[in-house]
Amino acid sequence: MATLKAVRGTRDLLPPETALWNRIEATARAVFARYNFGEIRTPIFEDTSLFARSVGEETDIVSKEMYTWEDRARAQSEKSQSLTLRPENTAGVVRAYIEHRLGETGQLQKLYYIGPQFRRERPQKGRYRQFSQIGAEVIGPPSAGSESPLRDAEVLEMLATLLDELGITGWTLELNSVGSAADRTRYNEALRAALEPLAPAMCADCQRRAVTNPLRVLDCKVPEDQPIIATLPAISDSLDEDSRAHFAAVTAALDAAGVPYKLNHRLVRGLDYYTRTTFEFTHGGLGAQNALLGGGRYDGLSEAIGGPKAPGIGFAIGLDRLVLTLQTQELNQSSAPRQVADAYIAPLGESINPAALALARELRRTGLRVELGEGGFRLKKSFEAADKTARRIVILGEDELQSGILTVKDFASGNQTKVPRADLVAFLTQSASE
Ligand code: AMP
Repeated sequence: MATLKAVRGTRDLLPPETALWNRIEATARAVFARYNFGEIRTPIFEDTSLFARSVGEETDIVSKEMYTWEDRARAQSEKSQSLTLRPENTAGVVRAYIEHRLGETGQLQKLYYIGPQFRRERPQKGRYRQFSQIGAEVIGPPSAGSESPLRDAEVLEMLATLLDELGITGWTLELNSVGSAADRTRYNEALRAALEPLAPAMCADCQRRAVTNPLRVLDCKVPEDQPIIATLPAISDSLDEDSRAHFAAVTAALDAAGVPYKLNHRLVRGLDYYTRTTFEFTHGGLGAQNALLGGGRYDGLSEAIGGPKAPGIGFAIGLDRLVLTLQTQELNQSSAPRQVADAYIAPLGESINPAALALARELRRTGLRVELGEGGFRLKKSFEAADKTARRIVILGEDELQSGILTVKDFASGNQTKVPRADLVAFLTQSASE
């Protein structure tokens, strides 16, 4: 029988790497809390039309990367329904915002999420079919200030702080404005006109996009198309007065806060719902997949999926790529040391196993990290196993149980010590923190 493996584009995360994942997630939670964000957890699958209407039919995500299936009705009262594993989380958060009428609070909603997303992309380093994102959204009625450029700048400043606190060095914030819906319509028309004579020389996708959604041509990654794309008009020339003023206010606040950025007028991002500010944080150490995170403002998204006016701004960080970056920086070496147990309990004989479990329970409840051996092992085998997993071995035989004096051997020093059971916790705690 063929051996079963994790599906292409998915992978198992094992210790000690998972310790780094946990550290990143804990840092993100701590930073978000300081900016007064709360956590939201939305379902991993949603009605397919949610993504078609928000991310956009013409985007790569919706047109070719979604895991979609027809969920058959199981009872007369149910209808069959097209469902999709979420390819991103903003649509789900905005759906939840509408469903729970969060706009009626009159307050800005500041929500963050951490979880897996699914896209059927061609797997490569930093690009997987199941990957994790850490994201946040600031959304609310205009009366709560949700359209303010200060919200954009605050979110960008928070991201700079988070990357700095994670110890990621050498990131670049690339910033652009794709304007209002009206600006984008105007820009799309300008692009359509410019592309008409050029498209026949471009890739098949661009030829199609040149007609259906010219903005998407700017997402093209085909190297031969890049010189043509470089000649296309820039979106900055299509922005109206309000969009220009909004963008100028975002950059002024970033300048005041000392957050460095680089303007990139080609940055339109691969999702249809963005308006005005769009951004990416990139990192040179990532190779071809160099985007650590991306995001932007989405003032019309709620209305596009049937909700009230609820402008917002958000981002999604590729957690897998944060891990890769930190691993290449080798920062995890000092912050996530090899996990070694404080003690290995070696019962001498199977009859001692129950007493060994009781001792392990006692020690673990004090916070010590304890490995529990097996009384069926010969002492030599227990020593070998202990040496691989723990700093010390605690020997527990019939004599030790009777006398209440345990033998503890420290592997680093080679010292063997007789320790009364009553003093064992103190002895191990002291050695654990040395
Ligand atoms: P997006 O939702 O496309 O704006 O992506 C936001 C971030 O998620 C990107 O900057 C990447 O860091 C990460 N990301 C997107 N797609 C993948 C993928 N297939 N594998 C790993 N990370 C991804």
